[in-house]
Amino acid sequence: MIQKSPRSRREIRFTGHPISPGIGIGPVFEAAEPVLTVPHRKISASDIAAENARLDEAVAQSRKQLGKLKTRLASLPEQSEAEISPLIDAYLHMLGASRLLRGVKTRISDQLLAAETAMMEQAESVAAAILAMPDADHAGRARRADEVREIARRVVRNLTRLPFRNFSDHAPGSILAAEALRPSDAALIQPSHFAGVITAEGGADGHTAVMLRALGLPAILGATGVLDAAKPGTIAIIDGETGEIVLNPSAHSLHAARARLAARARTQRALSRLQLLPSETTDKVPVALQANLELPFELPMIAQSGAHGIGLLRSEFIFMNREDLPDENAQSEIYRAIIEAMDGDPVTIRVLDWGSDKDVEVLNSYLPDTGEANPALGLRGIRLLLRNPELLETQMAAILRASIAGPVRIMLPMVGFQSEIIAAWEIYDRVWRRLKRRNIRLPAIRPPLGIMIETPAAALAARHLAKHADFFSIGTNDLTMYTLAADRGLPMGSGLYDPLDPTILRLILETAAAAAAAKIPVSLCGELASRPEAVPLLIGLGIRELSMHGNAIPRVKRAIRNVSLKQCTEMATAALAATTGDEVRQIIRA
Ligand code: PEP
Ligand code: MG
Repeated sequence: MIQKSPRSRREIRFTGHPISPGIGIGPVFEAAEPVLTVPHRKISASDIAAENARLDEAVAQSRKQLGKLKTRLASLPEQSEAEISPLIDAYLHMLGASRLLRGVKTRISDQLLAAETAMMEQAESVAAAILAMPDADHAGRARRADEVREIARRVVRNLTRLPFRNFSDHAPGSILAAEALRPSDAALIQPSHFAGVITAEGGADGHTAVMLRALGLPAILGATGVLDAAKPGTIAIIDGETGEIVLNPSAHSLHAARARLAARARTQRALSRLQLLPSETTDKVPVALQANLELPFELPMIAQSGAHGIGLLRSEFIFMNREDLPDENAQSEIYRAIIEAMDGDPVTIRVLDWGSDKDVEVLNSYLPDTGEANPALGLRGIRLLLRNPELLETQMAAILRASIAGPVRIMLPMVGFQSEIIAAWEIYDRVWRRLKRRNIRLPAIRPPLGIMIETPAAALAARHLAKHADFFSIGTNDLTMYTLAADRGLPMGSGLYDPLDPTILRLILETAAAAAAAKIPVSLCGELASRPEAVPLLIGLGIRELSMHGNAIPRVKRAIRNVSLKQCTEMATAALAATTGDEVRQIIRA
């Protein structure tokens, strides 16, 4: 029910992860998950057949609901559809001849449990077995366990006729608020019915975040405690760019937010005019802007963004959500389509970066069972590839075969040591010779082989590594995590993970200087590249190529066109002398 906001209340402010930019103003609509309590209920032996029939009916109904949800996906933006569709397929699979359903039936007949009790107990047991699996990918296992629990809850709601979460009983233009949202919930949101989305839980990099970005609604996730204060009907202002939420805003805050909303519309119009203007400082120093690509459906957006090529193609998507490995031909076709779509602009393809938090299920059998306690500090990226050279060979061969379609560079992830690049070069030489022997059409000049600089060791050894690499690309996401020993997924406000810490700036400077001395190109492709306020500083540190999410390009270009190289250099000099990230931010603001 929507209540009028009690205007006498004081303003309350929260901050969460800014997920999708834009200002939203409206009454809070809480889409609470109705409580699901399932008592432990026994049946008598004579009820087994009836109980199985109840189960079958609830399963059929769940399948029908998921089928409907799948049809609805067609009306969502392509990006959301691609995110959610594999998840729904996974749910449907669990409602087929799965371990989950087999176990439920056994519990009904052997333990004489009611269908809903059997379902909840079996789901817990399957989830526990998944969580206890020996592979190092904790996040992937937790996600799969959640999926099992989620499908069990759906069947139990159908068995017990308990209500589902409701996303439609609200005033138009409301701010949707929830403790947490699953990607399948995000698929139910009609973007035109809401002014924005806020949650108390959730990080910036999950599937839900990707979905909300695709819906184009202002969104903030992980604003701890916000649900305690945001009662239904409370007026809220949310800023999807800063992550700030204001509840019970004063007349003054409302006026300011409306002015920001109007200014944003004007800015959007101005930004779209920037697309054709050169990316250069006021004194004409060019700064190349490229896009990061994670999923192929981003290609049209990249083409519109004004990006000159792809600076980071995260090739992991080619291996995800499938049961078999893509062979050389299949991979080559995917690379070729992307290279052709870029129409002569260069594409930097990073070979498979998996392990630790990067879960690629089809490759799990390639992960050594070392029982690593700290997978982020163990086998991942290039280390795993060199232990499975056939994977690297196939991928390099596929890229080389596609490279006839346009300019390509190959990039190695998570390099720490010179020996790793040398070993990768040996494989690259071998693949090149093999393709030549087989008379495969190849470009006259072999595509460059470069490396990510995303470990402190690589940054500090950049002068040595430059002798073996054709180019560098600085990954500030991991570089920050490893330098500051602070996980990149840490919640907002922990203050530990800070890419603007002066130590990170020094490593960027060291890398840029090493690249300049060796006359090899260096770009920066971590999230820092997409922060307009940080870009002058990066230019001052010697960076002239940036790669980022396509959406960020117009704003970054505007920031570049507003500064001179002299200003950038002065800012960098001051920031390098700072002792904390906060001091660096003060220097940027000044
Ligand atoms: C990085 O670490 O900065 C980077 C660009 O790689 P990823 O985010 O894919 O780990
Ligand atoms: Mg990285």
